[in-house]
Amino acid sequence: MPITQLPAVVINQIAAGEVVERPASVVKEVLENAIDAGASRVEILIEGGGVDLIEVIDDGCGMSEDELPLAIASHATSKVSALEDLEHVATMGFRGEALASIGSVARLEIRSRTAERDSGGLIVVDHGVAEPPQPAACPPGTRVRVSGLFERVPARRKFLKSAQAETNRIRRVTRDIAAANPEVAIVLASNGRTLLDLPASDPRSRLEAVLGTELAEHMLEVSVQRDGIGLWGLIGRPELARPTAQHQIVCLNGRPIVDRSLRYAVREAFRGLMEPSRHPTAALFLSVPPDRVDVNVHPAKSEVRFRDDRLVFSIVKRGVEEALRGADIVPRFETSGMVPPVAPRERPLFGHSDTRSAGFDAAAARGVMASSPPQRTAEVGTIQTARPVLQIHRMFLVTEDAEGMLIIDQHALHERVMFERMLERIGEATLPSQRLLIPEMVEASPEAIEAMGSLGEMLGRLGFDVSPAGPATVAVHAVPSLLTERHVGIVAFMSDLLERAAELRDMTDQETALRDVLDMMACKAAIKAGEQLSERELADLLSMRETVERSSNCPHGRPTTLRLSIEELERRFARR
Ligand code: ADP
Ligand code: MG
Repeated sequence: MPITQLPAVVINQIAAGEVVERPASVVKEVLENAIDAGASRVEILIEGGGVDLIEVIDDGCGMSEDELPLAIASHATSKVSALEDLEHVATMGFRGEALASIGSVARLEIRSRTAERDSGGLIVVDHGVAEPPQPAACPPGTRVRVSGLFERVPARRKFLKSAQAETNRIRRVTRDIAAANPEVAIVLASNGRTLLDLPASDPRSRLEAVLGTELAEHMLEVSVQRDGIGLWGLIGRPELARPTAQHQIVCLNGRPIVDRSLRYAVREAFRGLMEPSRHPTAALFLSVPPDRVDVNVHPAKSEVRFRDDRLVFSIVKRGVEEALRGADIVPRFETSGMVPPVAPRERPLFGHSDTRSAGFDAAAARGVMASSPPQRTAEVGTIQTARPVLQIHRMFLVTEDAEGMLIIDQHALHERVMFERMLERIGEATLPSQRLLIPEMVEASPEAIEAMGSLGEMLGRLGFDVSPAGPATVAVHAVPSLLTERHVGIVAFMSDLLERAAELRDMTDQETALRDVLDMMACKAAIKAGEQLSERELADLLSMRETVERSSNCPHGRPTTLRLSIEELERRFARR
């Protein structure tokens, strides 16, 4: 095929592939433009999941009739004029591509008027073909109408989901931008039904409106200022973690972004507090001086590159850790909805009541919210060891604290306590080690033996002394004292460790590998379910709970403790 210069329409259609993937991308671009135009109120109306119609009305600075052809031209923008400007972009847009792209894959109509002029203009682009602008009567501001999206791009249309699914995406995009721009009032309606109606407000109230007040009230505030970087936001307690990251909003300088490393930072901060496959609920807002971040790495501007990415990572991780540390994160018993609550007056005297199954229960959830008062007394979260403790079924400990009754999994708590103690200790010195009179011989694969060699330093810190003793045998000369004290079988433990040696060696982060081994040690050494504890041991375990960080969950993230509040007990016994 001969080489030819592509016509402008085709160029824009190709560019549109990157910028306009689906209706939600149109909403995102047009809403961003409205915010860039200084709008104080933006109304978004959609029909048919945004495929039939997207209309965005703003009261921003507007454009004059003669500017309209430029607005829809590609690489035409009022926001940057030279490469250096990219160093300090403070606007959401700057690529000058969005309107041109949208106009090439839909029918686009823009009506706009500046405050200074008496009349405005209208321009229409129909699938890349623009008509000359014409005068039009309209209020100051801009009204953008996009209809028949992808009508002539069947390849794109095929990938669209149901109208409901596309509407949901539009709602999410709008929600995220709204969260980051609280001073702008934003309304979203779909087929005449209002989905979001957010008045202008301060950041905290906007977040409450976006997330729901009940939820936001029970989230923890994150707030950090360090080295010119600011972080503010709310994070959900571990029990609010969800199976997907949809409930996580991360914004940079007013722009929602998708950043895997920051998502990872948040999860790292929750390490050990929730199961690793879940995602914390969080809304985090970063402010970074524009010259310390490159926003021009993604066509839809949803990914960014930080100049000091390690610093940003650590600010987010530490900020979230700090917020969690200060909080009482013992999950409430009611959240599991294990026992269906029965309203006192409706309860039948005989026969079975309306016992709904163990699933999520809205009434129970409301109960959770109502019974966890945000203002807590200083006493909360601590157990006085003088309180009575009961061991039941040689598995669980039952005691009380200021808020109610605590049920503790003895194994999980002991595991967590030992894990944290060892972790703290290893930060300062190697762990105490016990020499074996006669080395234990453990069988292992040649790969495992080799991997063990490269883990030597870490194993030394932990108190192990291991050396190869043949092609398929290692000799164990010393082990951490904890293992011998707690009568852990050395051969079995070492076999498990050797089996994991290659995997541990291949971990990029040595700290993670170390934690994994500590985790194995804590798990094996911990009191088991079925062990009878003496009173002294019970008291010890409970007092350790107070001194150890994150004692609410075991190192695997399972809870160690459940709390049944006094309010809840009263409710269940129909006292309230
Ligand atoms: P970019 O936002 O990257 O500059 P766009 O294609 O989204 O590119 O918009 C092109 C230009 O049109 C903008 O730079 C701006 O000057 C103008 N414009 C777009 N939408 C609006 C609006 N709602 N109000 C005022 N001006 C607008
Ligand atoms: Mg734009």
